[in-house]
Amino acid sequence: MIEQELTQLVSRSKKIGADQSLVVYGGGNTSAKGRIKDYLGRDRDVLWVKGSGADMQYGEAVDYPALYLEELLALHKSDELDDDTMVDYVTRALVDPSARRPSIETLLHAFLPARHIDHVHADAICALTNHEDGESAVREAFGKGFAYVEWIRPGFHLSKLVSGLKDYEGVILAHHGLIVWDDNSDKCYQKTLDAVATAEKYLATLRKPPQAEFKHNDLSDAQIMELLLTLRGKIGKKQVLRRDSRLRAIADRSDLSTVLDAGAASADHMLRIRPWSCSLTQENLSAQVDSYRQRYDAYFEANKSLLPPGYGSHGNDPRVFLVPGVGMIGSAPTVKEAMMLADIAFHTHSVGATVVDCFARPRTLPDSEIFGFDYWPMELYKLKLKPKAPAMTGSIVIVTGAGSGIGRGIALYLGSLGANVVLADLDKNGLEATEAEFVKNKYPQPLLAPGDQSDETVVADTVAQTILNFGGIDGLVLNAGIGVPGKLEELSAQQWRKGLEVNLTSAFLLTKYGMKAMRAQAMGGSLVYIASKNAFAPGAGFGGYSVSKAGMIQLMRIAALEGGAAGIRANALNPDAVFDNSKLWEGGIREQRAKEHGVKPEELEDFYAQRNLLKARVRSTDVAKSVAYLLSDDSSRTTGSVIPVDGGVAAGFPR
Ligand SMILES: [Zn+2]
Repeated sequence: MIEQELTQLVSRSKKIGADQSLVVYGGGNTSAKGRIKDYLGRDRDVLWVKGSGADMQYGEAVDYPALYLEELLALHKSDELDDDTMVDYVTRALVDPSARRPSIETLLHAFLPARHIDHVHADAICALTNHEDGESAVREAFGKGFAYVEWIRPGFHLSKLVSGLKDYEGVILAHHGLIVWDDNSDKCYQKTLDAVATAEKYLATLRKPPQAEFKHNDLSDAQIMELLLTLRGKIGKKQVLRRDSRLRAIADRSDLSTVLDAGAASADHMLRIRPWSCSLTQENLSAQVDSYRQRYDAYFEANKSLLPPGYGSHGNDPRVFLVPGVGMIGSAPTVKEAMMLADIAFHTHSVGATVVDCFARPRTLPDSEIFGFDYWPMELYKLKLKPKAPAMTGSIVIVTGAGSGIGRGIALYLGSLGANVVLADLDKNGLEATEAEFVKNKYPQPLLAPGDQSDETVVADTVAQTILNFGGIDGLVLNAGIGVPGKLEELSAQQWRKGLEVNLTSAFLLTKYGMKAMRAQAMGGSLVYIASKNAFAPGAGFGGYSVSKAGMIQLMRIAALEGGAAGIRANALNPDAVFDNSKLWEGGIREQRAKEHGVKPEELEDFYAQRNLLKARVRSTDVAKSVAYLLSDDSSRTTGSVIPVDGGVAAGFPR
């Protein structure tokens, strides 16, 4: 049985969580009080409070651990409790010791007597308080009904202070948010909405937008691509760069730096988007990133005495960039995280703009307070719990022929390693089937590039969309290919040309456009050509195919020669007889090859396995693992090489 108060708490919190102008991604917390029977059947008063880091929008009953209220109230007698001790004591009050860790603001909820409490980090409330005259603005907007509390980091001290304000209608916390309460859940929710509406109404009377509004022209796709590649190279990390246009109006403002100086709206925003954002254009990009890094290093040096032992800097790179003519660019290991940055940056900088437009003296927290929050042990603890990211997180790789066979196998394997994969293939249905596998396995959402990759405009577009979607490019897997059966005396010129087009020209074109982009990005890169055992050990009756694959090896060598100075590596794999869901064997090729080898079509796989030294069937996963190796830094000193993945075929040894 789920108690009524808990049910009400969960449904009210979902409504709050769904509105990002109230809370973003795990910010804020809500609670309810009620009575349960404990494990010995005794009636006990409890507090249900949001779990630390839980996102209200998706939170269920399990995300609101119950705590014995009596145990929590006993702590009110203390004069001082440091964070560690407080967390220790609060944890001891859990009804279910294995429940998720309750919010750091648990005692704030416990010490207020109301049955239902909402605490949100609302944009309008932060816009009202984040300036030198915050207290008088609150007075003017709310009258005497609400208490105003200057910024204090969440914890025991704030909880105790707020408990003394229980006779007010609610509490407004500068640079933080709002607390309201009621014994009725619906009324409590309504009080949150009313307080936010009151703040918004007041702000609307003050808002004076900047007079000389100058709208920057839209950047063209070519300019955006250049900017993304330069920026990714400048940061020098394999990660995603994602644009978001919601901040366009702010990015175009002539007083952008004043807006950014207003800082994070609510302190918890800075944990995700860092204490500051970075504004830049193509022209000043490098200098702006350098000066951001210098500023961060100076801030870290000046405050590092506050750092708990065993921790270092979070790194000095910005995560959020404001770009006139574009909007915002977020840099993160995954698209999902980059989109989260965009959501938070949108709210934080919209609040900053409102403060600048409404009040004379915008104010951000002092650096030492920012540092105290940025490196707060309670938050560092959450970082520690974060699982290690998969090996290829942040990498961006195009795989051709990804609609079936080896290409699909490679793409899925790279997806399992966390890579951002672009799936290219002529076969749109095949691509969608591969995409469905990505979704089913919860791999990062791939980008589909349907089209004929031997057509130059299609290839140019595949590379462009890769950059526009993910922000750069780290690897190419040149895998698209078709079988070309027939003896030379029988092969038509049309079949011959088709084989060359699909197997070789497509590889040339992707090499051309991919290398160009990698050179502009200046982070090196890796090109992996899926050739064939046939490149070195050709088969009679399979000439069109064997010649194109031999050409691919030569193409790889030239790419290694021309790309080396830019750190771009090129290597080839020579697989043989990979059958799992490969289309290479369709259309009579299985029968033709079986006849050529004097076996029945259904015996072909065993025939090939018996032919190699290891007597092993070669699977697409064997090829995929070698691809991942060649894409990774584990092979950073290898270029121009050919690795057989054929079970060992003496005639096909590289030489
Ligand atoms: Zn809070």
